[in-house]
Amino acid sequence: MGSSQSLPRSHTTGLAGWGRYPVARGQVRLSDDLERASCDASLSRGLGRSYGDAAVPAPSGGPVLVTRLADRILDFCPQTGRLRAEAGVTLERLCSVLWRQGWSPPVLPGTRFVTLGGMVASDVHGKNHHAAGSFGAHVESLRIRTACGDVLEISETNEPALFRATLGGMGLTGHVLEVALRLERIASAWIFSESRRVAHLAEMIEALAQAGREWPYTMCWMDASATGAALGRGVLMAGRWAQPHEVGAVPRRSRVTARVPFSCPSLCVSRPVVRAFDVAYWLASAVPRRAAVSDPSPFFHPLDALLDWNLLYGRSGFTQYQCVIPFEAAREAVTELLGALRAEGVWSPLAVVKDCGAQGRGTLSVPRPGISIALDLPLRWPATERAVRRMNRITAQAGGRIYLAKDALTTAQEYRAMDERVDSFLAVRRQWDPAARIRSALSVRLFGDPA
Ligand SMILES: Cc1cc2nc3c(=O)[nH]c(=O)nc-3n(C[C@H](O)[C@H](O)[C@H](O)COP(=O)(O)OP(=O)(O)OC[C@H]3O[C@@H](n4cnc5c(N)ncnc54)[C@H](O)[C@@H]3O)c2cc1C
Repeated sequence: MGSSQSLPRSHTTGLAGWGRYPVARGQVRLSDDLERASCDASLSRGLGRSYGDAAVPAPSGGPVLVTRLADRILDFCPQTGRLRAEAGVTLERLCSVLWRQGWSPPVLPGTRFVTLGGMVASDVHGKNHHAAGSFGAHVESLRIRTACGDVLEISETNEPALFRATLGGMGLTGHVLEVALRLERIASAWIFSESRRVAHLAEMIEALAQAGREWPYTMCWMDASATGAALGRGVLMAGRWAQPHEVGAVPRRSRVTARVPFSCPSLCVSRPVVRAFDVAYWLASAVPRRAAVSDPSPFFHPLDALLDWNLLYGRSGFTQYQCVIPFEAAREAVTELLGALRAEGVWSPLAVVKDCGAQGRGTLSVPRPGISIALDLPLRWPATERAVRRMNRITAQAGGRIYLAKDALTTAQEYRAMDERVDSFLAVRRQWDPAARIRSALSVRLFGDPA
């Protein structure tokens, strides 16, 4: 290439995830030539949308390769839906290019401000996990730079153990340079959706199971401040791509409308404000919404309409507790999780419940058959940490596990108690990176890497 753009640009700065905790100083390396810039990098980082410390460097780590300049779509076949792109391509770009051409990324997480590399490393799931599995199920191959310097094309047939460990491996098995995947054919660039209230937790779990048999995309907003007979009440949303004849007069496209300008006082997510929001949303959802055809963006990515919304949590930041609990234990465990929050005086401004289908091929990927609950939690020391301790015990006892892309507070011991796959993952990683040259604040915290 040889252009001045491909020369790595470096600077040192504070790095955090979306939850703004923890923060670590790191030497950032920006380049549109990932193959060259990854030579001695100690971690890759996309758009920093993982909540905790997965994309935060270890204290003694080397340069952090920020991939966002490597954003070329290298190959796309509109007949077969096969796509190959650099790891820094964003989901936002893919959606805007592909939806118009009758294709979609097959798995869409709750924000489009993520990169392909980040989606692979977290093996992200969407509202359609019960129908389509997680992102890794659609990845055909990866071009990757391992810690020992090799650049390899890996897949189910070439280095399958490394391939599987990389899907959901939180960037610890190598730097993903390129991703080849199969897209989903869509009937139109519009979404047909319905929503209705569910009165309590048991009804929510049943409604998700029932809707999952009819709809590819389902999820529930939960009023996490409701108690007693209303515990676990919420709103079920279900959708599918609209058929062309259903679209009719072209509905309005949604636009990004606002940006949070600065770190807000913690009052914004105080308990009374959260309670008032929950009640208002519950009341506003009283009438079931049927057969609405809409822009896919607010359906898949409602929070993206408010840029920098993480600043609402103030300077101390927030975390998200997300776990997947097997179906048979879900009702009791979710009740206990909400009880643990109340016992510690912690409240959740946003709670989302989904159902997950079969476990995928990523060695450490979180989804498994069961109910996923994701609870945003303001960071208030030491209450939030104590709440996470309690919640991890509940999750482990229920046979569930947490999602590393959201976590910042779990201990190594707690994580092992929830996920018996850790040793298989570490064995593959050691084979390719015996000295843990590629590491992060997360791998120091959970896998005992050198700080
Ligand atoms: C509002 C919101 C909603 C979300 N909803 C969902 C959801 O519905 N489902 C879901 O699964 N997740 C969800 N997430 C989490 C998000 O999808 C993941 O954290 C994703 O990995 C973030 O992508 P990123 O490009 O910002 O990666 P980063 O946050 O920058 O990095 C995440 C991990 O990927 C690794 N990584 C990044 N690029 C590379 C690369 N090129 N090579 C190797 N490793 C790499 C990093 O080292 C790190 O371990 C949500 C996040 C937000 C903020």
